[in-house]
Amino acid sequence: MRIGLVAHDARKGELMQWCAFNRGTLSKHQLFATGTTGTLIEHEIGLKVTRLLSGPKGGDQQIGALIATGGLDILIFFWDPETPQPHDPDVKALLRLATLWNAPTACNTATADMIISSPLFHGDYEPVKPDMPDRVIAVDDNGTVIIED
Ligand code: PGA
Repeated sequence: MRIGLVAHDARKGELMQWCAFNRGTLSKHQLFATGTTGTLIEHEIGLKVTRLLSGPKGGDQQIGALIATGGLDILIFFWDPETPQPHDPDVKALLRLATLWNAPTACNTATADMIISSPLFHGDYEPVKPDMPDRVIAVDDNGTVIIED
């Protein structure tokens, strides 16, 4: 699975606890994260992560673009429901794309636990997607999106 991980500052501790608890499982999958979240996962948990821009600098949009182009299977997004965010439009856009593209999305630990412990997580489950455009879209090993007309 290709898993996107994002946490706002007030919830980074909660995400680190979840990553630490699920370290063994996560190590078998390809991880992508916004900048600061990814740095913490690498340094505190010791997992390899493809780090994108920091969320407020465009990282949320990069995660959303990966979802829309078939480069991410699951989104773990611990957004902060108690603090206004300067990049609130990006947060909303990411949640919109995750919903549109039918990506399993967890915004809290209980849902993340349900996703990672689901038999579907370890199987060949293919979520139904909206109609794809008539273009070849791929994501290389560095997370770079390739679009061919
Ligand atoms: P960060 O971004 O991982 O760079 O802190 C998360 C966010 O605020 O969306």
